[in-house]
Amino acid sequence: MVKAIIKIPRKIKKNLYHPKLNTTKAYYGLDSNIKFCKSCTYSNQKPNSEKEYKHKIKTKKPSLKLNKDNICNACYIQKFKSETNWKKREDLLKKLCDKHRKNDGSYDCIIPGSGGKDSFYTSYKLKFEYGMNPLTITYAPHIYTDWGYQNFKSWIGTGFDNFLFTPNIKVHRLLTRLALENLFHPFQPFMFGQNYLTPKIAADKFKIKLVFYGESPLEYGNADNKNSPIKDPKYYTSSNPLNTSIAGIPIKNLIKDFKLKRSDLENYLPISVKDFKKSSTEIHYLGYYIPWHPQAAYYYAVEKGGFKPSPERTPGTYSKYASIDDKIDDLHFYTTFIKFGMGRATYDSSQEIRNDEITREEGIQLVKQFDGEYPTRFEDELFKYLSINKKDFPLTHKLFEEPVMTKKYFNLLTDKFRSPHIWMYEKNKWKLRKTIYND
Ligand SMILES: [Zn+2]
Repeated sequence: MVKAIIKIPRKIKKNLYHPKLNTTKAYYGLDSNIKFCKSCTYSNQKPNSEKEYKHKIKTKKPSLKLNKDNICNACYIQKFKSETNWKKREDLLKKLCDKHRKNDGSYDCIIPGSGGKDSFYTSYKLKFEYGMNPLTITYAPHIYTDWGYQNFKSWIGTGFDNFLFTPNIKVHRLLTRLALENLFHPFQPFMFGQNYLTPKIAADKFKIKLVFYGESPLEYGNADNKNSPIKDPKYYTSSNPLNTSIAGIPIKNLIKDFKLKRSDLENYLPISVKDFKKSSTEIHYLGYYIPWHPQAAYYYAVEKGGFKPSPERTPGTYSKYASIDDKIDDLHFYTTFIKFGMGRATYDSSQEIRNDEITREEGIQLVKQFDGEYPTRFEDELFKYLSINKKDFPLTHKLFEEPVMTKKYFNLLTDKFRSPHIWMYEKNKWKLRKTIYND
């Protein structure tokens, strides 16, 4: 008899969520005193980049810092953009390209992407304005939206070679379910693939020493050095790749308990520090060298390559052009709303406020209207994807007390991840204790 490892989530204790409770417990190491940035719609609950492969449910998450004037790091850094000498930065970019450009026309840089506006903008600029010979790399989402897939085709169709990597769908489904169960982070396995595969492909397969991402994470307040164009290797290298975790589960347990093989997990493992150093690959952000403006990147992609926005409003927000290619994205932003009180409209509006597209007051109204909206549109397909059924998983379905994902089960899981300092339960309804529109 196989014993279930993943148990049905227990009903939570509602008294922890009493509206009048004074001292409330904060999960994930978050600051129990919720504060909002005076300049955008972020709060100090927003998690920052970290070594994701170390992430377990008890890990204390580093989060966004507000300064003494309650301005967040993302807005603070934005101020420097107008003071930056962009001419000088572009000269640095030209130098970097000259150093790496292959005059025989062979590949000289790698551009990872999905065919969204950012990868489009980055690759097109580098190839047609800076004369580089890029190879694009895509880590395939399993459940493309129709428009996402069309945009991917349009992107490649404008004149790029593309190296498409598609992970084993059964392994990826299993890991996605485990990441949802353990971390309420259904996007984590995809993020691993997307972030860890590129340096390995660059170093091992094509011996290309230059990789370009588009937008710098500094735009979102991640606390890296603002004077560095480089993606810090600490996020995608490890001294011992086999000593990492996926979905909060150590690799050795995934192999032993979940009947996976090393080869099943290879694409989710970071490159070893030693191999990365040996390869002398450099990973840069184009957004460091030229001023980055998401809406301008969108118009550029529309004009040059026929990029199409989503035909419908994305649930949880008002926008139609950012992160629209993977159906899992809908769930991803819903889970950030549950864990951090920040949904997709918060992410979208804060970025647009910083880029002067909308005012903070407009942003707050958009958050009030759309943040945390439950995404119903792909629900059936997503729940099917997340179900570890007997037919597809003859060895592992028994490890789940309830292998099938339903709305009822998803709700139980959702409640498990509600931190009492963010949520209260009042008149049979879940409410945020503190919101930017009531602050
Ligand atoms: Zn801010």
